[in-house]
Amino acid sequence: MSLFPNQTQTQTLASVPSSRGLGFYDIKLGRDDVFYCSCPGWMHSKKRPKMCRHLASWVVGNLGEVFDLMEQRHGKDKGDKRSDALVNSANGYDGKRK
Ligand SMILES: [Zn+2]
Repeated sequence: MSLFPNQTQTQTLASVPSSRGLGFYDIKLGRDDVFYCSCPGWMHSKKRPKMCRHLASWVVGNLGEVFDLMEQRHGKDKGDKRSDALVNSANGYDGKRK
């Protein structure tokens, strides 16, 4: 998909069911270190980093993996900072919004 310009280096982390049962959304980590979700909510998110209910839920449930991935890419200090920013965004996400 053209949503992911660096797809060759993109890691797919999870596939989560849509809340309406109409299929699945993919949670991915791009080569650009952005955590993507393929849903429209993520695409239109004004948060930085971008966030949606699926990504927020995945991040909160997989904190260890988030930190591991960022540490692998950036080392402990930088990686942890990036992870913290993502986790803060996930924790602040209002899951009631669609
Ligand atoms: Zn989503």
